[in-house]
Amino acid sequence: MRLIDTHCHLYLDDFDPEQDALIAEARASGIEALLLPNVDTETIDRMHQLCDKYPDYAYPMMGLHPTSVKGDYVERLKTIESCLSVRPYIAIGEIGIDLYWDKTWIREQKIVFEEQLRWSLEMHLPVAIHTRDAFPEVFDSIHKVDPQNLTGVFHSFGGTVDDLKEIEKLPNFMIGINGVITFKNSKLAETIQHTSIEKILLETDAPYLAPVPYRGKRNNPVYLWKTAEKVAESYHLSLEETVETTRKNALKLFSNMNWNA
Ligand SMILES: [Zn+2]
Repeated sequence: MRLIDTHCHLYLDDFDPEQDALIAEARASGIEALLLPNVDTETIDRMHQLCDKYPDYAYPMMGLHPTSVKGDYVERLKTIESCLSVRPYIAIGEIGIDLYWDKTWIREQKIVFEEQLRWSLEMHLPVAIHTRDAFPEVFDSIHKVDPQNLTGVFHSFGGTVDDLKEIEKLPNFMIGINGVITFKNSKLAETIQHTSIEKILLETDAPYLAPVPYRGKRNNPVYLWKTAEKVAESYHLSLEETVETTRKNALKLFSNMNWNA
C-alpha cells in the first residue's frame, strides 16, 4: 500500500536534525511522497532545500499563509510571486483566511487570498486552503474569483456538515483530513460520512495535530497511517480500498506533477 502525505511541513526546524531519518522511515512504511506547503517568506529557503535534496519525494507548494499577512503584505506577496516564475510548484499554498488568532488584518487577508486564487487560475495550479473560523469569508472569496474553475483542497477540514455541502457546490474541491479525525472529542469521522470518499485527501499537517495515540507529540509523515485507518473505519471500507482511493484523489488534484508513480 502506498500513501501520499498531501500536507506537511517537514522543512520546519521543529524536525532538525531528523528530516533524513523521518523521510527514510516514511518511505519504508509506504509513504511515497510528501507535499510541502509554504508558510511565510522566511520558510521558503528551507522548504526549497528539502525539496532539492529529495526531488522525487518532496514537492513544494508556494503561497503566503493567512497568519503571515500583516502590514507588509504587499512586499511579502511580491517575494512569493517572484518564486513562481523560477521553479515548478505543485500548488499554490497554503493560503486562506484565519480569524481565530487575530481579526486585525481581515481586509488584508482577503486581498492576499484572492490575489493568490487568481494566480492559481493563471498558472493552472490547485490551491491548498487554510481556513479557521472563516468559512463564510473563504466561500465568499472563492465565489468572487471563480468558483467553477478554481481547483483545490480545504486542508485540515474541521467544518460542519453544512460547510461540507458548501464545498460540494464547488466542482473541483477536495477535503483534507488529518489526525483530528482520531481525537475523542472530534465529530469529523461522522461529518465526513456526508460526503464521498472520492473527495477525501489524507494529510498529516506535521508537525501539528498528531493522531491518537501520538496526540500532543510532534507529528510526522509516518503517522499518516493512523489517520488512514480511522478514515477507513468511518467509511466502513478496508484500509486497502481507502488508501487506494485517497491516493487516486491526490494524483487527480495534483495532476501537474511528474509522479514516478
Ligand atoms: Zn499547514
